[in-house]
Amino acid sequence: MSLPENRLERFARHIVLPEIGGAGQVALAQKHLVLVGLGGIGSPALQYLAAAGIGKLTLVDDDKVDASNLQRQTLYNERDIGFGKATCAKRWVKLFDPALDVEISDRRIDAENVDALVAGADLVLDGTDNFATRLAVSDACVRAGVPLLSAAVGRFQGQVGAFAGHLDEEACYRCFVGDAFDVEDCDTCAEDGMLGAMAGWVATFAAMQAVRILLDGTSAFGRSDWSKVYLLDGLSPATRAFSIAKDPACSGCASR
Ligand SMILES: [Zn+2]
Repeated sequence: MSLPENRLERFARHIVLPEIGGAGQVALAQKHLVLVGLGGIGSPALQYLAAAGIGKLTLVDDDKVDASNLQRQTLYNERDIGFGKATCAKRWVKLFDPALDVEISDRRIDAENVDALVAGADLVLDGTDNFATRLAVSDACVRAGVPLLSAAVGRFQGQVGAFAGHLDEEACYRCFVGDAFDVEDCDTCAEDGMLGAMAGWVATFAAMQAVRILLDGTSAFGRSDWSKVYLLDGLSPATRAFSIAKDPACSGCASR
């Protein structure tokens, strides 16, 4: 398969990179990414994921755009305030690149709908701000055999981890954080505050890791990086990485 002339021009700066190339760009056009959460992570990440030409995007968020979002959720503008994030995000993608296939869900993620949302995806990127949703998404990814890129940010700290808990040797997100957060949600983003560019840094790093995962096996840039978490420290600033071992007693992935 090759790309039509207008797509070759659009993605010329990717295609000219030996690490991506025409084969990588064709592969991206055939991928399906599910983006859960269209806030501080999901909004800037979507701009780069759509710009990368990922062919099919499913956008999931039940929230509405609020004036206080605009300081970091760069996808939205003042006209979007009060409207659903998923609808606004789809409109943005359709203006940006009509060739991309976009589906949305504006329902809250729960045990009833999560499996259908992740089914058939090549990758799920979760940038939601609460553990209940993150764990539900992680468990569904393990059940469906879909890899999960999990990204989170608060104040000046961010983390981006790649999980493939459906594989025998690889950890899932629940192996990383445990079960403790199932009961009590500890997220305090609203009270803690966050530097806008910090969310953008974590989001664009996550977008880069998503492209890396989607090109695994196709281009030199591709690499899955399973069970590895990157910490981004905006105060120093600095990054570091560590590996997560699969928990043999994990309720999300051990029984598979
Ligand atoms: Zn696990």
